[in-house]
Amino acid sequence: MSDIPNGEELKEKLFAKKKNGWEKTNPQERERIFKFAEEYIYFLNHAKTEREAAKLAKEMLEKNGFQNIEQVENLKEGDKVYYCNRSKTIYAAVIGKEVLTKGCNIVGAHIDSPRLDLKPNPLYEDNGLALLKTHYYGGIKKYQWTTIPLSIHGVIVKPDGEKIEVAIGENEEDPVFTITDLLPHLAQEQMEKKLKEGIAGEDLNILVGSMPFEETKASEKVKLNILNILNKKYGITEVDFMSSELELVPAFQSKTLGLDRSMVLGYGQDDRVCSFTALRAILNIEKPSKTAICILADKEEIGSMGNTGMESQVFDHFMAEILNKTGENKPNALEEVFCHSKMLSADVDAGLDPTYPQVSEKNNCARLGHGVGLNKYTGARGKSGASDANAEYVAEVRNIFERNDIQYQLSELGKVDVGGGGTIAYILANKGMDVIDCGIPVLSMHAPCEVTSKFDIYEAHRAYEAFYKA
Ligand code: MN
Ligand code: MN
Repeated sequence: MSDIPNGEELKEKLFAKKKNGWEKTNPQERERIFKFAEEYIYFLNHAKTEREAAKLAKEMLEKNGFQNIEQVENLKEGDKVYYCNRSKTIYAAVIGKEVLTKGCNIVGAHIDSPRLDLKPNPLYEDNGLALLKTHYYGGIKKYQWTTIPLSIHGVIVKPDGEKIEVAIGENEEDPVFTITDLLPHLAQEQMEKKLKEGIAGEDLNILVGSMPFEETKASEKVKLNILNILNKKYGITEVDFMSSELELVPAFQSKTLGLDRSMVLGYGQDDRVCSFTALRAILNIEKPSKTAICILADKEEIGSMGNTGMESQVFDHFMAEILNKTGENKPNALEEVFCHSKMLSADVDAGLDPTYPQVSEKNNCARLGHGVGLNKYTGARGKSGASDANAEYVAEVRNIFERNDIQYQLSELGKVDVGGGGTIAYILANKGMDVIDCGIPVLSMHAPCEVTSKFDIYEAHRAYEAFYKA
């Protein structure tokens, strides 16, 4: 007999375990995971912009018993309400048993994604072709957006208030659009440039027409023909572009990725993967102890500013309305709610890419299929701009996940000094909440096609549900 313990047993007891989540799943669980991913893929394909995501989310909420808070007089335990801000942002709440001033459990994601927006005066004719000028939205690698099929989504609003909804390029019979690029034969000069300079912002021009309007001697006949088509279809003239929001997004559909069908390939997964899972989770919540709140914010990709971004006062207004309608409002009640609330900032994380492992630090990177990821902090170069979650709060979140057998991983976005990023976490943390980033690892983030793991998607929705119920 020896007092020295068996090394393998000791290792099992003492080491942190980093396991591939699929390994512990049985066939029934895999079926559930795959089925959930199908629902998610449907969401991605029907919510390619923030407006479409807000609209679909609203439909899902209403179908599950959530009412517009503006149409509700009084709120009590178990009531479900939502507020849609300017068709671009949604807040949903399930009123808890405890008073609000004891704090809420909040999961917040964003429904805007990198894309190309049309400029206010977009249409022009050049050398017999009609094109549209764009201004990109969010952090994109511009070369990735050329020579792919694009669709146009958005609204045109006329001065009399008439709002025309546009979505061209999604149906089988629809035309699509594209940004051209040079042929390699003549691209010698372009190929010598740095990757980030290869395609300039002003080169992201959308090809929309090549056929001249017949019956005229007028100049710019190709442009005229396009305007005539738009006038017949929508009743608009060129000046109406000025009061439009038209967004170019990839025209292809999101799909299952891999021979083992384990992943999802699609546009806008940052951050609709966390939006969908957070929304889907709150639909299952009945009479939680603390009021459960789901935030689907806009404008995260360009800094969360403006009246639909997380920095706006509109979220505070929604919370104050809940306080009013539950009869709890009093001076400083809102501050009390915020200081006692806990939040998961549900945004995607960079997954380790085997082709580019050099940007990740192998002990502190998120891996696909290893569960929902927690980022204690984000920021760049010395955690600058990060709302570093307190250890006490990280422990609380760990406890919720471990109690519910949810697989999670703790990671950083990338190596120190390599780069960084931010989320909406700091905005809510600044109000006094405990906040930690908690999302899904992604490959090819911000590209027209992003990659996620179906295991992580399922696990995130379980994590958010457990958090709402905590
Ligand atoms: Mn994001
Ligand atoms: Mn992003």
